[in-house]
Amino acid sequence: MKLLVILLFSGLITACRGNSSYSLPPKLLLVSFDGFRADYLQNYDFPHLQNFIKEGVLVEHVKNVFITKTFPNHYSIVTGLYEESHGIVANSMYDVITGKHFSDMNYKDPFWWNEAVPIWVTNQLQENRSSAAAMWPGTDIPIRNTTPSYFMNYNSSVSFEERLNNITTWLSNSSPPVTFATLYWEEPDASGHKYGPEDKDNMRRVLKEIDDLIGDLVHKLKMLGLWENLNVIITSDHGMTQCSKDRLINLDLCINRSDYTLIDLTPVAAILPKINKTEVYNKLKNCSSHMNVYLKEDIPARFYYQHNDRIQPVVLVADEGWTIVLNKSSSKLGDHGYDNSLPSMHPFLAAHGPAFHKGYKHNTINNVDIYPMMCHILGLKPHPNNGTFGHTKCLLVDQWCIKLPEAIGIVIGALLVLTILTCLMIITQNRLSAPQPFSRLQLQDDDDPLID
Ligand SMILES: [Zn+2]
Repeated sequence: MKLLVILLFSGLITACRGNSSYSLPPKLLLVSFDGFRADYLQNYDFPHLQNFIKEGVLVEHVKNVFITKTFPNHYSIVTGLYEESHGIVANSMYDVITGKHFSDMNYKDPFWWNEAVPIWVTNQLQENRSSAAAMWPGTDIPIRNTTPSYFMNYNSSVSFEERLNNITTWLSNSSPPVTFATLYWEEPDASGHKYGPEDKDNMRRVLKEIDDLIGDLVHKLKMLGLWENLNVIITSDHGMTQCSKDRLINLDLCINRSDYTLIDLTPVAAILPKINKTEVYNKLKNCSSHMNVYLKEDIPARFYYQHNDRIQPVVLVADEGWTIVLNKSSSKLGDHGYDNSLPSMHPFLAAHGPAFHKGYKHNTINNVDIYPMMCHILGLKPHPNNGTFGHTKCLLVDQWCIKLPEAIGIVIGALLVLTILTCLMIITQNRLSAPQPFSRLQLQDDDDPLID
């Protein structure tokens, strides 16, 4: 009897294990190729990426946040917050209260990052889950006293292959399991700056290399048996636009350098006045017809770029393709950071995995919408954020949403059904009333209605 119970019990356990893929927590890998402008997808060949999209979803334009720079947008993706709310308001910052400086060489003080909680921290606070990161901005810093369980210190000279090896090892063999992971690569941003996005020959070569890396990523995930159960999002922080040495705005022609401290330069300059700020504003406001000059309190509401001490009292925004300089030429042929309503500043998003539809294309979402979607996939309770989960419902298999072709189909279908029903009713009525005409004539004769 005892033996029978043991056998039954062990059989039950085996049966449960057989179905264990259903009980495993969902996993998500978030990948960023820095500076991947949305329309590169239409203008260049990406055989590997297109295969990935064919079996998954594509969002053609992701509206990112102002200013369209690297650190701020990567932090918006993982927090769902505008820059004024998460506190990473530029790649170069100065905090007037503490006197601290932030730059891409000096970014490791948690002070800058602690105004928000990125998803890798939230994920790790869930029981029996861990996070891993191969160089997403902010992942090598103890934010809210927590780093991902597995991470790499940022070093641009580490190869993509090494980053990929680390992240796939952590996704395969960790306990507690890694359920959220990030992977970051500096291209095509670096080449976009160097050549400019209009240099087709160089960009074609660089973008082919990126596509090959995506091929390597998918191949590796398949080899390790991760492909079927892992959700993978491939996206970017911003696009890129063409610049020129003929489109420069020289601040030195308008204002004396001793009148202000320059915190950030181009294409959005952050100016901390040393003299009266109205005086600084007046000297700059007519400096160039290719630059908007704002007092902090007058920055357009659509930028969501005002309510933070790290935003300086005077902000200059260059027009697309223009570069702000201090009396010197610029070697940059491509740049980003401009108005986030410009299509050239937008990246794309592609996703594949059990959470996503297959072969579905969507026009646009905001990059702050990615955070609530990722929380939903991972079963995490999101922190308060500026994103809208509803914007991403059409991408997800477990959500109901009416897509435009379906809506048109439903309307046409309903009209067809109504037309058929009406026709049937008319035919039926005509048939029923067919033997009546003589009696009606009879009635008319009896009542003589025409003589009334
Ligand atoms: Zn970037």
